[in-house]
Amino acid sequence: MAPQRISPSVVVETEHYGSNNSAIIGTDGVILVDAPHLLSDAHAWRTYVESFGPIRFLVHSDHHPDHTIGNFLIPGEIVAHAETRRRLATEPPSMEYLRDLLGRLDPEGDHWLDGYAVRLPTVVFEDAMTLHLENVRLELKYQRGHTRNSILSFLPEEGVLFTGDIVCEAGLPSFQDSRLVDWFDALDVVDSYDFEIVVPGHGQVTDRAGVARYRDLGRQVVADVAERLGKGQEKDQIVAQVRFEDNIHVPMGTNAGYPDDLIESFQERSVARIVEDLQETPGLVHR
Ligand SMILES: [Zn+2]
Repeated sequence: MAPQRISPSVVVETEHYGSNNSAIIGTDGVILVDAPHLLSDAHAWRTYVESFGPIRFLVHSDHHPDHTIGNFLIPGEIVAHAETRRRLATEPPSMEYLRDLLGRLDPEGDHWLDGYAVRLPTVVFEDAMTLHLENVRLELKYQRGHTRNSILSFLPEEGVLFTGDIVCEAGLPSFQDSRLVDWFDALDVVDSYDFEIVVPGHGQVTDRAGVARYRDLGRQVVADVAERLGKGQEKDQIVAQVRFEDNIHVPMGTNAGYPDDLIESFQERSVARIVEDLQETPGLVHR
């Protein structure tokens, strides 16, 4: 682990395989944003952050496994959008999927899978909510984007915005759970915040220019798909041919990464999503 102090109260770990994990440290406890993907990272992260105080809240930016799996090993109230709770309750990854995936990504964490169950959020909201520690205020806001249940978390006193996968510095995540209009709207909302620092869902801590670079990456894929639609290509052909760089699920350091067939299916479903949304709303190419 190599956690970085990015502002007076915030420590971020960007080197866990799976997602960025943040700790907001107050005088009377800690708020975490997103849980490690790997159970062995979750165990180590808990031990580390508890050195600053008790874990009071764990916020989930969405329901995806790479941001929620590790919550099993972390105490505190779990805070999320109401739809994140519904989706974790009704479409959790199967044990078979978890055993296959984590057996590959995290062989050392294997023993925690016995008796494993994702923890469901205990505190949910629809539009907005504020979490308080004695000297810290974290403002949570519902914002459809990367998923229909994504949220933004803002620490106004320190100008830090935690975007989850609404912004990723490492490159584009999957689009399969996004609607394109929401994807762009969410970036407009991010831009409207008075922030200095962005903690993205994946990749290095960044700033306003990093948000602009991320928007450009999305625009490039959308432009590619739009051009092919303009030439009369069929959806199947576009889905088979258009690819964007995946820096999120690939092998990293000593980690084996996701299986190739899973990465391929994320790409196919992402491109299919973009094709469908552009067919319905061609004007999105100008966002
Ligand atoms: Zn993610």
